[in-house]
Amino acid sequence: MHIPFCLPLIDQDVITEVNDCLTNTGWLTTGPKVRELEAEISKLTGTPVLCVNSWTSGAMLVLRWLGVGPGDEVVIPAYTYSATALCALNIGAKVVMVDVGPDFNMDAEKLRSAITPHTKAIIPVDIGGWPCDYDTLLQVLDLPEVRRIFRPNNARQEQLGRPLLLADAAHSIGATYKGRPSGTLADVTVFSLHSVKNVTTGEGGAICLTLPYPFDNAEVYQFLKAFALNGQTKSAFEKNQPGAWRYDIIDQGLKVNMPDVCAAIGLAQMRKYTSELLPGRRHIFEQYNAAFAQHSRAILPPYQDETRTSSCHLYMLRIAGASEAERDAIIQRIAEQGVGVNVHYIPMPMLTLFKRLGYCIEDYPQTYRLYANEITLPVYNGLTEDQVSRVEYVCRNSITDPPSKE
Ligand SMILES: *Cc1c(COP(=O)(O)O)cnc(C)c1O
Repeated sequence: MHIPFCLPLIDQDVITEVNDCLTNTGWLTTGPKVRELEAEISKLTGTPVLCVNSWTSGAMLVLRWLGVGPGDEVVIPAYTYSATALCALNIGAKVVMVDVGPDFNMDAEKLRSAITPHTKAIIPVDIGGWPCDYDTLLQVLDLPEVRRIFRPNNARQEQLGRPLLLADAAHSIGATYKGRPSGTLADVTVFSLHSVKNVTTGEGGAICLTLPYPFDNAEVYQFLKAFALNGQTKSAFEKNQPGAWRYDIIDQGLKVNMPDVCAAIGLAQMRKYTSELLPGRRHIFEQYNAAFAQHSRAILPPYQDETRTSSCHLYMLRIAGASEAERDAIIQRIAEQGVGVNVHYIPMPMLTLFKRLGYCIEDYPQTYRLYANEITLPVYNGLTEDQVSRVEYVCRNSITDPPSKE
């Protein structure tokens, strides 16, 4: 039995919805399906939601809206997918990486010491679907000394009065923190709807707006909707109504809108996400937890505690005492038995681009420790009970060596 690491959900509901787009609405780019998907995500978050064509472009759009650019700094964790850094680098800002805590997420103490008068935003990441401790991160941004050194250079930054808390919730749609859903925990949150994520539009992202007073989130939504479309006040769909041809370009925007044919895929998934798809993922997590709880070398990923529930995006198993080399050998044995596993993530300071930019993994010891013995197991809707049992069996058999002496 061959079991891939990941497969997108393309079931009859998805096919019906895409078919409706192709044959009934006959509209391919941004139009009614995108607005329906935004409304569906908004049922979960209660916020204005703007869909765009990726997490990365959504984060760039938000940073540009805030006027972040050359001379500014954005603080991110060293343990994440590189897009978290690239959204800032690609608008000319400098990326300041901090080490993470034992739960894979941004460490508030490290954040505190990374903030300078140039800091304009921080982007914590809900790794694997496990929400960051947002209240503590926000407390850091609200410290009188942080507000005092903040140097606004436009009206929006002045209105905020401190660095922006921009959540990288690429993994965490459906997760909760203190009873509140992901999408409402920061100033702005961006979900990814990429093919490997919990809900997908092929490629896509969704921006949730919960900016503090005196921002008007409905107004910011209207602005960003145009800003994501070259700054154009009307989409082609809106201009297509009789007599509605006139438009304006209100600002120098990006071209990052989501096509309707993509939104249809996510719409079908989103309608049953909390009722079916998320519980399905949760069930797989629980099966793995039960299987590995008694294993002497298994360190289980964070999943739920008194304040948080995971969206069960990645099952990030860790092997106690394993070196990077032993972990790699275990993955090789698992792969030889036809099971796809993965590593999340190769820390950015170990990748060529970031080494060239001067980042050094020795500065992020906790990040390295978490990465070195990590193996991500498959979790997706459509993975059967038998397949989950097979994954457990193959993994348990592949983790045979005693822990190496440190
Ligand atoms: C997938 C991912 C992104 C990027 O998402 P795209 O939609 O592909 O741009 C960003 N951050 C994290 C942590 C991710 O896993």
